[in-house]
Amino acid sequence: QIFAKYSTSPELSSQLRNPPRVPNLIGGTFVDSKSSASIDVINPATQEVVSRVPLTTNEEFKAAVSAAKQAFPSWRNTPITTRQRIMFKFQELIRRDMDKLAMNITTEQGKTLKDAHGDVFRGLEVVEHACGMATLQMGEYVPNVSNGIDTYSLREPLGVCAGICPFNFPAMIPLWMFPVAATCGNTFVLKPSEKDPGASIMLAELAMEAGLPKGVLNIVHGTNDIVNAICDDDDIRAVSFVGSNIAGMHIYARGSAKGKRVQSNMGAKNHGVVLPDASADATLNALVAAGFGAAGQRCMALSTIVFVGDSESWENKLMECAKALKVNAGTEPDADLGPVISKQAKERICRLIQSGVDSGARLLLDGRNIVVPGYEHGNFIGPTILTDVTADMECYKEEIFGPVLLCMRADSLEEAINIVNNNKYGNGASIFTSSGVAARKFQTEIEAGQVGINVPIPVPLPFFSFTGSKASFAGDLNFYGKAGVNFYTQIKTVTQQWKDLPGSSGVSLAMPTSQ
Ligand code: NAD
Repeated sequence: QIFAKYSTSPELSSQLRNPPRVPNLIGGTFVDSKSSASIDVINPATQEVVSRVPLTTNEEFKAAVSAAKQAFPSWRNTPITTRQRIMFKFQELIRRDMDKLAMNITTEQGKTLKDAHGDVFRGLEVVEHACGMATLQMGEYVPNVSNGIDTYSLREPLGVCAGICPFNFPAMIPLWMFPVAATCGNTFVLKPSEKDPGASIMLAELAMEAGLPKGVLNIVHGTNDIVNAICDDDDIRAVSFVGSNIAGMHIYARGSAKGKRVQSNMGAKNHGVVLPDASADATLNALVAAGFGAAGQRCMALSTIVFVGDSESWENKLMECAKALKVNAGTEPDADLGPVISKQAKERICRLIQSGVDSGARLLLDGRNIVVPGYEHGNFIGPTILTDVTADMECYKEEIFGPVLLCMRADSLEEAINIVNNNKYGNGASIFTSSGVAARKFQTEIEAGQVGINVPIPVPLPFFSFTGSKASFAGDLNFYGKAGVNFYTQIKTVTQQWKDLPGSSGVSLAMPTSQ
């Protein structure tokens, strides 16, 4: 009921106000959309309608962009130390409200409360990093490039930037975007996932409590139409997108055609390569956690394991570990994994499991028919393991995005590396081994943007960047870290001359060269 306080529009019937409508944020005010069209936000463990998210009208979208445009001149001229202090306060408030944020995420998205805390925490780390923006945004200076002439470069904000978010990290991914953009001096229009918009609204309230001025952060809700409006709008200079390949490539093409910068983080098929010399217990724990954590709905989930050499004993132990996991609503203290996001997602995942079986894979563990007592209507799928998977199978070619682990075999490390490199995605890949020589070969030859060595989910902390590659990323500059600052800034280079000009040198029309 956190949005009830905003559902005050007299145009809306009481039926629409209960469950509450999620407000837009325009020019510093949380407002109900005038549109009566909305989408239900559904608790995936219970099917209860938590709130309704409006399909924002075009006029409201224009008002949000206009508010961001109006706020830009004074925000970009606000001292960097002031902007940083707002982030210092913002990180403190996120910590204060961590439990509320996590509960909202579990209610709307389904992941366990512990995992929801991790979702907030990984975003919080980006806010902490933005607190040091003055150093990150520093320019460069070369004195006396010619006699009496100096050149320096400044990293200036772009103007209005926009962000379009996926459902799987409702706090972390908005926090990858607007704190970095705003601390660089930009203003922002955020479009949260229509499946779980609550955390974005709560974070925006905290950012404003921390002192973020009106109009610096705006939020609009909706789906394809609002996304297309973001891509087309002449006042928006850059678009950050995280989500599926279909949407991401569309947004990359449409936004770029309008002359915008676009960074697009997309889908994945992350492989774990297990060598016979890998430490058994640590590797099994890592594979189970990275394959089934968050019900497999992480873009860095390890969804495919390639065993080098004999795989049978690994697979049997993996099955025993996976069987022991507790599937339950995310609010239950014993839950290891919660439901998947929607009934449609569950159907799609079950169809891909069946397609694997139909094309010759062996179902070692089948989680499709699980019933969770007390939550019989939830979108639950238990841990599922398919072995004898080959590269031509649909379940291998498609991103499943559910608690399903695919097992493959290779005779050598070379063969395993070839399997990984032939896959179109390149978000992450990990090797498990006690051989430094093998690990070094893997790190050098593997075609993935984020590599783990005995680390299952190698997502870099914010002083590095999130560096997915191949079909997992479109654009040039990655999210957060130095690349994130470069994405949200443009370079201005100044050449200055302060010297007593000799009056007798006359006019020269030749190309100036260093004197
Ligand atoms: P999605 O692409 O369905 O939705 C993401 C956003 O795009 C939403 O805000 C949605 O409203 C919008 N959208 C969806 N279809 C659209 C269309 N046709 N036109 C315009 N806008 C559209 O993604 P999702 O299901 O919310 O998230 C899961 C996906 O995100 C997975 O593929 C996952 O791998 C990926 N993901 C990637 C990363 C990464 O950093 N690489 C991180 C998290 C999630």
